[in-house]
Amino acid sequence: MKAVFLDKDGTLIVNASYVADPRRLRFARNALAALRQLDLAGYALIVITHQPQLATGPFTMLEFAALRRTLIGRVRDEASVSLAGFYACPHAPGANGEPRCGCRKPMPGLLRAAALAHGLDLEHCWMVGDSLNDIEAGRRAGCRTVLLDVGNETEWRVSPLRTPHRRCADLLDAAQFIVTSEGGEFDERPLPRLAETR
Ligand SMILES: [Zn+2]
Repeated sequence: MKAVFLDKDGTLIVNASYVADPRRLRFARNALAALRQLDLAGYALIVITHQPQLATGPFTMLEFAALRRTLIGRVRDEASVSLAGFYACPHAPGANGEPRCGCRKPMPGLLRAAALAHGLDLEHCWMVGDSLNDIEAGRRAGCRTVLLDVGNETEWRVSPLRTPHRRCADLLDAAQFIVTSEGGEFDERPLPRLAETR
C-alpha cells in the first residue's frame, strides 16, 4: 500500500491566522484537483499536521474535531475523495520550536504510526509540505519528499535530511510529478546516519 502524506496548513489549506473556524477553511490553489489525481493513481491520502494550540490553547479538542470533520467532509463532497487518515501532533514544542515529542515534524512519529495503521510501504510513500520540517520528517520515515515552493519556508536550515527530492509550484504540480515518476528509477542520494545530522 502506498500513500501521500500531506501537510495541512499552507499545503492542503490556506494558512489562516484563525485556523480553528471551519467556516474559514479554504483549500490551497489546485489542492482538490491534486487530491483527485493522487486518489485515481491509487495513493491513500493522509494528513499529517501539528496542532500545538491543543496544548497551549486557544484550540480545544472539540474545535479541532469540528475542523477535521469539515475538512474530511469537504474533500469528500468537492473532490469525491476519501482521506484515509488524519494525524495530528497535539504537543507544544520547546522554546525554539524544537520538538519535545516523537510526533512533531521534523520527527517521523506520525508517519510511522500511519504506516503501521494502514499497512504502508514507506519507501513507496511521499511526504508533501511547504516547510523543510515536512521534508525532514518524510526523509526520516524513509519516504520521498516534495517541497511546495509557496514562500512559507523562511529559515532554510538545510542539510541532506532537509533536502527535498523535488520542489513544486503547488499541490497539483506535486501530484503530477508523483504520478509520473511512479515506477521510475529515482536518483536517491546517500544520506548520512541520523547521529551525524543532529
Ligand atoms: Zn507530538
